[in-house]
Amino acid sequence: MELAGYTIDVESAVQLINEKHYRTLAVQIPEGLKRHVFPLVDFLKKETHAAVLVSADPCFGACDVVNYELKNLDVDCVIHIGHTAIADVENFWIPTIFLNAQSTLDVSKVVEKALPSLVGKKIGLVTTAQHLHTLETVQTILQQHGFEAFLAAGDERISAKGQILGCNFSSGANLSDQVDCFLFIGSGTFHPVGLSMSTKKTVIAADPYTNTVKKQEIEDMKNNLLRQRYGAILSCRNARRFGILLGLKRGQQRLTQASEIEQMLHDAGRLCLFITQDQFSPSALQGFDLDCYVSTACPRLAIDDYLQYKKPIITPIELEIALGRREWETYVFDEILQE
Ligand code: SF4
Repeated sequence: MELAGYTIDVESAVQLINEKHYRTLAVQIPEGLKRHVFPLVDFLKKETHAAVLVSADPCFGACDVVNYELKNLDVDCVIHIGHTAIADVENFWIPTIFLNAQSTLDVSKVVEKALPSLVGKKIGLVTTAQHLHTLETVQTILQQHGFEAFLAAGDERISAKGQILGCNFSSGANLSDQVDCFLFIGSGTFHPVGLSMSTKKTVIAADPYTNTVKKQEIEDMKNNLLRQRYGAILSCRNARRFGILLGLKRGQQRLTQASEIEQMLHDAGRLCLFITQDQFSPSALQGFDLDCYVSTACPRLAIDDYLQYKKPIITPIELEIALGRREWETYVFDEILQE
C-alpha cells in the first residue's frame, strides 16, 4: 500500500499473519508516519480480522523493536515499519515482521543536479533503507554521464548493498579504497557526515525530498562536529566519576565493549557506574552525581543529543583519547559493527 509518499508491503505481512493465525498485532511506526497510521491499521483489521495496537514508543531503527512488554497484552505479532531488519538483532519474544517504507520520490532530478559536484570518475553509492530501490537508477544515470558507480555489501548488520545506518558505514568503508568520492541519496546530514568521518572521503549528499545537493556543507558540519567532539573529550579528561550508558534496545547492546570500558576506567583509577535505560534522556540522568558519561548505546546519543545533556557524553573511542590511550589524529566515528 502507499502511505504518505512511501510504499509499504503490508500485503505480504497480511499473508503471513493469516497463515499463522495471529490474533493481536502491534504496529511500530517511525515518528514521521504516525499521523498517517489510520489507513494502515484499517487495512490490517479488514484483511486479518485481528486486533491492532499502535505503539507510541520511539522507532528510530531496526535496533529498536518494542517486544517483550507487549507479551502482557497478548500481542502475538509485531509489525515494525520503516526499517530493514538487522541480522544480529534477533530472538524476539514475539514474532516480528519488518516492513521497509520505500520512498516513491523520483531521485533522477537531484542526482542529475549532483553530477557537477562529484569528485573524480569512480563514485561510491550509498543510501538509507527508504531509497535502496533507486540505486539501480542512480547507477544508470552515473554511467550515462561517464562515471563508474560502485556499490558494496556492508557487514552483517546491513541488509542490502549500498545501505548505511547512522551507526554503520561498513558498505561505504568497504569501497573507500576503490572510489574517488561518495554520493549519498537521502535526507539529513548525520549519515553523510558520519560516512565522511568513517571513510575520510568527500561525500556529496543528494536529497530527493528538498532537491538539494550538499558538498561544502557536509565538510563544514564534519569540521564543526570534530571541534565539538574535541571539546567533549577535553572536558572528560580529568573526570573522576563516569557513567557507562548501556542501552536496553536489543540492537544497541554492546555488553563486551561496556565491560572493556569499565576495565579501562578502573585501570586509569576512575570510578564508574553502569546505567541502563531503554531511551536515555537528560531528565533521567540528571539525578546522578557523575562527571560525565560514556555511551555504548546508539552513537547518535553522544553526537546528536550532546547539547541537551548537562554533563558531557562521549563515545568509547573518545574515552580512549581522553585517557591517553589513543591519539586525536586517529579519531574515528563511533559505529556498531558486526562483532
Ligand atoms: S543504533 Fe542508532 S543509528 Fe543505529 S540503527 Fe539504531 S537508531 Fe539507527
